[in-house]
Amino acid sequence: SPIFEVKNLVHSYGAQIALKVDHLTVEKGEIIALVGPNGAGKSTLLKILGLVEKPTSGEIFFKGKPARPFSQVSRKISLLPQQPFLLKRNVFDNVAYGLKIRKIRDKQILREKVYKALELVGLSPEEFARRPWYALSGGETQRVALACRLALEPEVLLLDEPTASVDVYSAQLIKRAVLKAHNLWNTTVLIASHDYAWLDEVPHKTWHIFKGHIFTDEINFIWGPWQ
Ligand code: ADP
Ligand code: ADP
Repeated sequence: SPIFEVKNLVHSYGAQIALKVDHLTVEKGEIIALVGPNGAGKSTLLKILGLVEKPTSGEIFFKGKPARPFSQVSRKISLLPQQPFLLKRNVFDNVAYGLKIRKIRDKQILREKVYKALELVGLSPEEFARRPWYALSGGETQRVALACRLALEPEVLLLDEPTASVDVYSAQLIKRAVLKAHNLWNTTVLIASHDYAWLDEVPHKTWHIFKGHIFTDEINFIWGPWQ
């Protein structure tokens, strides 16, 4: 079965419908780019698939089973929100936090996993592990936030404009880290992004999102019903 199946989903904020999906599926290991203007519904979709927002109505299945928001299965899914925040602790504690919640307490194993995640995002553990959250640049903060997710070796990685507000150097390292995760664990990746040059380099599907509607193939997008 697909890793995600969404049926008859509607999500509204007040009277406004932000997202309407009759049916869609995501297969294990796919990379899907979500493309569309601001306000189209990209973040809403990512939050719903990330099981951190309960849809107004509709069903989500994860590997064929109903997936409830904030339930155990959400641990297999990592969402990097548009504005991630770090704990007011050092880099090591930030990256270790999710692992500790998952009951990984062995100091040696914790250290290995944290260091590996930092290396994935191009942060030298020797230089960064003990650095406090306030001593990081914007790009470093975003890479630590990504490392927090990668440390969990997620089955699904949901990225909300991960490179939109960082310098080109950090953006390059973020892109590299996402592809490494995909190659290491066959992680399924959904990325909302306007970085078309990057998307051209990555084997992926593109879903166009427009006014809360998702178009999973080009022809429907070009000749869509809103015209
Ligand atoms: P995108 O990520 O594509 O920019 P969003 O999913 O953030 O789009 O937003 C989809 C629509 O839902 C927009 O019209 C937005 O204004 C609205 N919206 C999003 N979040 C909220 C919220 N918390 N309260 C009210 N409206 C919201
Ligand atoms: P930007 O403003 O470009 O986001 P900063 O000026 O905050 O970045 O930081 C520039 C560099 O200096 C970054 O690599 C950051 O990690 C480092 N840095 C900033 N503050 C400290 C500090 N207190 N201790 C060690 N390194 C720091």
